[in-house]
Amino acid sequence: MSSKAPDTPTVTTLMVTSPLSKPLLPKPIWAKLGQRLNVAGMLSFLAVILRDQEMALPHLRAQDLRWVNWAELKRQGFEGVVLDKDNTLTAPYSFSLWPGLGSSLDQCKSVFKGKVALFSNSSGLLEYDSDGSEAKALEKLLGVHVIRHGTKKPAGTAEEIEKYFNCEASQLVMVGDRYFTDVVFGNRNGFLTILTQPLSLAEEPLVVKQVRKLEAALVSSWYQKGLQPRKHSRLSDESCCVQDPAS
Ligand SMILES: [Mg+2]
Repeated sequence: MSSKAPDTPTVTTLMVTSPLSKPLLPKPIWAKLGQRLNVAGMLSFLAVILRDQEMALPHLRAQDLRWVNWAELKRQGFEGVVLDKDNTLTAPYSFSLWPGLGSSLDQCKSVFKGKVALFSNSSGLLEYDSDGSEAKALEKLLGVHVIRHGTKKPAGTAEEIEKYFNCEASQLVMVGDRYFTDVVFGNRNGFLTILTQPLSLAEEPLVVKQVRKLEAALVSSWYQKGLQPRKHSRLSDESCCVQDPAS
């Protein structure tokens, strides 16, 4: 577990200033809102509510990355990990790894050597990162490949991801903080899905905070009615996959 993949940068050096010659300037509020208001996502939201509620239920839930037992997931046959960025690895719109997550990310990279990538609705998404500058910055800072793609989660397929990992999505783990984007996308495409709690709500626009609350309330009501996530064929024992890092 302690060994690291050759040539894989660690995150211990990650105190972010942009490595680019062109600095990564803060985005204006309209761009942030556009990044967060996801029309296809809204349609998907309705579809999930009306007929596909279990798609929003993650297979596993963790406080944050530190709670995920990467070695156990590997032992159960998973081949790689796909991470969301905003509020999973960094604060929204930030290019600094959230404090305390470095060792878990290093551990993840060590366990899944060369098989860890970011799939974000900001960095690497052609609509908002058309020249790939944000993706390149993150790759340099985190030592993790950022998948370029053209469709926001939860819409679209896992084609770009499967191509990068050279395996089926059912062999991969999707980790993210949103029920109706990361989890729905992951479940629809066959990933094992892990929901983490958002790292910081301070930077999120009010409307996004309200949508987040609505999502949580809906999912909570479905759990109370007894709805369960669909079983994942590769997950043989979920009891050890998420653990308190202090235990
Ligand atoms: Mg997120």
